[in-house]
Amino acid sequence: MSTILFSSPIFGPVQSRRLGVSLGVNLLPSDGKLCTFDCIYCECGFNADTKPKLRIPTREQVAEVLEKKLQEMERAGRGPDVITFAGNGEPTMHPDFPGIIDDTIALRNQYFPKAKISVLSNATYCHQPAVHEALRKVDNNILKLDTLSNDYIQLVDRPLLRYDAEEMVERFCAFEGKVQVQTLFMCGEYEGQSVDNTASSFVDPWLKALQRIRPEAVYIYTIDRDTPAKGLLKASPAVLDAIGERVRALGLECSVSY
Ligand code: SF4
Repeated sequence: MSTILFSSPIFGPVQSRRLGVSLGVNLLPSDGKLCTFDCIYCECGFNADTKPKLRIPTREQVAEVLEKKLQEMERAGRGPDVITFAGNGEPTMHPDFPGIIDDTIALRNQYFPKAKISVLSNATYCHQPAVHEALRKVDNNILKLDTLSNDYIQLVDRPLLRYDAEEMVERFCAFEGKVQVQTLFMCGEYEGQSVDNTASSFVDPWLKALQRIRPEAVYIYTIDRDTPAKGLLKASPAVLDAIGERVRALGLECSVSY
C-alpha cells in the first residue's frame, strides 16, 4: 500500500480529474493525516498509521504561502482554475477555517479573480454556524455523502464523531442549494462484509436525498489509487454511468469519474 501525503499549507498546482488546474490548500500537517472520518479507501492511509507529529499551519502562514504561490503563478502567466481545500484530512477541522476562507477569497480577488474556490469536506462540521457561513461563501462547497445507510458509513467511512445520515441530509438541505455532493461508489469487501454501495438498495435512498438537497452539482467517482484496506474494488464505468444517468434524470448536473 502506498499512501499519499501532501505538502502543507500549499501543494501543486495539479491537474485535477474534476476541477482543472487546481492549486491545493492543505490545512493539516504535511507529515500525517487528521480527519473526523477514517475511510477504508482513504488515499492518505488509515488514521492510526499516519498520525502527524508536526503542527497545523497557522492562519497567517496559510495566507503568506498562498500569496507567494499566487505571485509566482502570476509571473509565470498561468493562474489556477481553482483553489482547492483538500489535502491530508478534513479542512474544516482547522480552528481558523472561516478566517482562512476570508483571506483566500481576498487573495483570489486580488490575483486571479476568475479562479474558483472549492472545499472538499466530509461535512462533519458543516452544521457549525461559522463553518456553515464560510462554506456558503466559496464557489464549490463539495460535501461527501457516500450513502444513506448508517451501517455502511460505520463500516466504510468510520466517523470518529456521532453520525446520522438523515441528520446529515438535513444539514445539506440547510445550504438551500448552495452545495455540491460527492459520492464514492465501489464494490468488494472489507473484513468479510460487502462494501458494494452500487445496488439499488443504496442508490435509491441516495437519489431521494439528492431530490431533497437539490445540489448545484453531483460528483460520482470510484477508487482511483491504492487503498489502505485490501479487497476494495472499483465500480465499473457502466455502473457509474447508469447511476449518473439517474441523477441527471432528476434534473441535476452530474459528473462521473472512473
Ligand atoms: S473523509 Fe477524506 S480525508 Fe477523511 S478519511 Fe475519508 S477520504 Fe480520507
